[in-house]
Amino acid sequence: MRSEWGKQMSQAEMTSDCSRCVGLCCVALSFQRSDGFGHDKVAGDPCYHLDTSFRCSIHARREALGYDGCGEFDCLGAGQRATSVFSTRNWRRDPAVARQLHARFSLLIRLQEMRQALIEADDLDIQTELNDVRQELLDRIIFLADTHHDSIDGPAAAVLAEAKDFLGELARVAPH
Ligand code: SF4
Repeated sequence: MRSEWGKQMSQAEMTSDCSRCVGLCCVALSFQRSDGFGHDKVAGDPCYHLDTSFRCSIHARREALGYDGCGEFDCLGAGQRATSVFSTRNWRRDPAVARQLHARFSLLIRLQEMRQALIEADDLDIQTELNDVRQELLDRIIFLADTHHDSIDGPAAAVLAEAKDFLGELARVAPH
């Protein structure tokens, strides 16, 4: 069970910081025109409303203009991590590098979501052996989410699959 200090530290690691991101959620993700988004957008194309400083040009009017879904999205810190990994690479001029950046962002969203689920599982009353597995999976995910190494796709896919199975097992055995 986490201490209050541990909870605050975990929360800090899961908090998005748009000031250290280059608008990745407004570029890398796809959207369909719907109640929460005003136009169709394919993954990799910048939103019409993203300005050259990677800020939303309609931020104060998003709801009025039909983009209230943007405010509901939370990358859990994937944006600043992906931006940091690619900070010395020429993704602005090289579309192939930009695609790598967007792929890293998408993978980091999945890692951060699983990181959050495993952190929250610490509040469950589970056996020591299961908690050890939870901690081992969490440590692997934290390493991959926070590293600047290039080759994380394989290890990330493996740990995400293991963690998904683990959470499924936990849902069966943990007291409700
Ligand atoms: S409307 Fe603004 S916040 Fe939403 S995707 Fe476009 S630029 Fe980003």
